[in-house]
Amino acid sequence: MTDHDHDLAVVGAGPAGLAAAVTAAEQGLHVALVDAAHQPGGQFWRHPDESFPAPDEARGQHLWSRFTDLRARLYALESGAGGSGRIDRVAGHQVWFLERGPETSYTLHLTPTVLAGTRDATTRVRAASLVLCPGGYDRQLPVPGWDLPGVMTAGGVQALLKAHRSIPGRRAVVAGTGPFLLPVAQGLAEAGATVVAVCEANAVTGWVRSPLGAAAVPSKAVEAAAYAGALLRHRVPFRTRTVVTEVLGVDRVRSVRLGRLDREGRLRSDAPTRELDVDLVAFGWGFSPSVELVTAVGGCVQVDADESLVAIVDEWQRSDAPGVYVAGEATGVGGAVLALVEGELAGLAACRDQGRRVPERVVRRLQRRVRRGRAFAGAMHGAYPVPAGWQDWLRPDTTVCRCEEVTVADVHTACDRLDARDARTVKLLARPGMGWCQGRVCGFATARMALPPGERPSVADLASTAKRTLAAAVALGELASAGDEQPFSPEHDCNGT
Ligand SMILES: Cc1cc2nc3c(=O)[nH]c(=O)nc-3n(C[C@H](O)[C@H](O)[C@H](O)COP(=O)(O)OP(=O)(O)OC[C@H]3O[C@@H](n4cnc5c(N)ncnc54)[C@H](O)[C@@H]3O)c2cc1C
Repeated sequence: MTDHDHDLAVVGAGPAGLAAAVTAAEQGLHVALVDAAHQPGGQFWRHPDESFPAPDEARGQHLWSRFTDLRARLYALESGAGGSGRIDRVAGHQVWFLERGPETSYTLHLTPTVLAGTRDATTRVRAASLVLCPGGYDRQLPVPGWDLPGVMTAGGVQALLKAHRSIPGRRAVVAGTGPFLLPVAQGLAEAGATVVAVCEANAVTGWVRSPLGAAAVPSKAVEAAAYAGALLRHRVPFRTRTVVTEVLGVDRVRSVRLGRLDREGRLRSDAPTRELDVDLVAFGWGFSPSVELVTAVGGCVQVDADESLVAIVDEWQRSDAPGVYVAGEATGVGGAVLALVEGELAGLAACRDQGRRVPERVVRRLQRRVRRGRAFAGAMHGAYPVPAGWQDWLRPDTTVCRCEEVTVADVHTACDRLDARDARTVKLLARPGMGWCQGRVCGFATARMALPPGERPSVADLASTAKRTLAAAVALGELASAGDEQPFSPEHDCNGT
């Protein structure tokens, strides 16, 4: 399939993208669904290879019946194999560049992912409008020793557990902040690993700061209780206001050093330090939404309560760019249920804006659920901030940017001796965020380190490591064959960057 025209292109086949694509196709739109993975589900419903059907496919999953329902509807709507042909699914391909044509149609430039294992002919998809649901990636903070083998992101560990049934260690510590630490610890324990501790940097009482938001989605309390029960069953110690201040080992992780935090999130000097022997460390400090495709088409972004850069959308999930809707984590980290609701709403909005009748009562119900979901997400971000003192346990030789091997000392030199006052200048002078991952791993930390302590990052601070002209790495040949069409440049720079 090359240069195919569609009413709508959806990027991402996670909860948000699946809901958007299926909803829009069932309302009659001809949809292209592009996803980097070779099978649908995104991060939340990552599962073993469907070509080898497994009886325990649902193991470790939540809301699995929602997924199997969406998947069945997707396959029934797909072209080929008896499907209705309303959805052309382009699996195993990344959108590396988005272009807006003169009449607000969009061209998606695609490159096959390594996992796809094929280099099929799909290089471009054209569509009248777009729903962007690219999700996000694990937010990481540097710590001495975090570049040793055996240290992983919590999401990476979860992906191995869910898709490959594989445990990357036998004695694990899960550390950072936020509710996502719980399913990762549970998954590891149920897969047979010994989880020696979950180290949560905050106190669970943080939720009381925003009781209305916390109560907005009551099912979340039930979910939390289920995780607490699972940790009790597996005798996993849950330590609050505790952080890993150092990962120890020579050729790989041997142990971690723990520290206790005070109420302000600073290391307590009066508390004894403790070491735990482990061969796996799973760090999770929340997630960073992927907004590069949003900014590529001129969509505006803002800084969310968790200091992430997120797309600005209206009550129909419309971004500022004409015909472009955004749903899921890219509008703010809020979990899979909210992503599903936003995706369905975005699918209906795209249909309505293309002149189709949509069920107004359903729309109003979805909009109410989005508002409640966002209130809950705000309470969650307030309860699990990155601790104020996280830079206190860094050392001059701690690596910040792993791709370009930039250390804490390099960043401090850029700030203190070369007078860099913002993340962009630090990036230019010391090169953090300039390597292969384009700041996905170090971007948040670099933006924070460039600022005076306690100062909230601005859109420009975060955008300097989150805006990426190319959303994925491509071979020079692909770049050359993309043609010489003029890339779209937005008339107004709403992001001030
Ligand atoms: C590694 C990881 C693991 C996670 N595991 C869990 C979990 O187990 N439980 C939980 O509650 N939450 C988990 N989360 C949080 C979770 O992502 C969300 O709550 C939920 O999946 C959000 O749904 P979404 O549709 O917005 O995004 P996602 O589910 O992340 O789906 C986004 C999809 O877009 C695709 N994509 C992104 N960019 C491009 C591009 N340029 N071109 C083509 N395709 C693209 C991705 O391949 C992905 O399939 C995880 C997050 C991460 C980063």
